[in-house]
Amino acid sequence: MSEKLKFICLPVQKIFTLCIFFVLIGEVVCSYGDRSIAFQNCIHWCEIRNCSNSTRLSDFEANRPWYLTILQWECLDECDHYCMWHVVKVFQYNGQAIPQFHGKWPFYRFCGIQEPASMLFSLLNGFVHYYMWQKFRKSVPNCPFSSIWNIQALLSINAWFWSAVFHTRDVPLTEKLDYFCAFSVVLYSFYSLIVRTCSNLKPGLPFFIAVPFLSYFVYHIYYLSYIQFDYGYNLKANILIGLLNSCGWLIWCYKHHHKRYVWKCAVSVLAVNFLLMLELCDFPPWKFMIDAHALWHLGTIPVPLLWYR
Ligand SMILES: [Zn+2]
Repeated sequence: MSEKLKFICLPVQKIFTLCIFFVLIGEVVCSYGDRSIAFQNCIHWCEIRNCSNSTRLSDFEANRPWYLTILQWECLDECDHYCMWHVVKVFQYNGQAIPQFHGKWPFYRFCGIQEPASMLFSLLNGFVHYYMWQKFRKSVPNCPFSSIWNIQALLSINAWFWSAVFHTRDVPLTEKLDYFCAFSVVLYSFYSLIVRTCSNLKPGLPFFIAVPFLSYFVYHIYYLSYIQFDYGYNLKANILIGLLNSCGWLIWCYKHHHKRYVWKCAVSVLAVNFLLMLELCDFPPWKFMIDAHALWHLGTIPVPLLWYR
């Protein structure tokens, strides 16, 4: 690797190494909000009072607003939510730092939506991808590799849709769909890099290159769904493919830097990697609305404006 390429790739490598370090630390340090005595007492009495027999459950369901019913906020979930805010008030009253609950910060819920800011920013990301994809199709109708870029746009829109669903309601199924669809974008971007790099491919070869990628994706989903939902493995797979992908695209940009549009590709790749650093700043949400993860989703909104160009 030349000195210039090392200069481009090393910051990206450092960011990913830091990501692994901080995310692993995040996994080791448990949230203490839901383990506090105040929470345990609250949840115990809330469940007895509201969810302990069929009469109380019927009362709960009769009084539940329609949007909480649609989003499947059950009696135990409501107790969890109610007790989270009870504990936040207790901690604030005692001058203690805002705690996390089940590994997450407390957020104001809006019409049953758990993380409204991240949900809104995910939708905006999906919308910008859709808008730029339509623009791209009109501007370059006969573009080489058009099917590659069309599929990439569809996978991105799909991933942001499931991200919005996950931030609306965090349950095991929506979490899996968010993770799997996000990984499909990372893996597909790496596949598109290989196809784009080998631009003199014989017809049909992109299909054969797709076979190992598709096989690995199926294995990834199978392993996480039926063997073990292993956050560490999922993270490592994303970091490894993401790192190869980022370095690969930056090398491609370096080799084609004489083309006038290539800087837009390099800035897109670097922007995503630098925005990832926001994930390292794990702070309590501002006004219980915007945390580092929401800012990461906010920051990625303008990236497609450059990427599709
Ligand atoms: Zn998210």
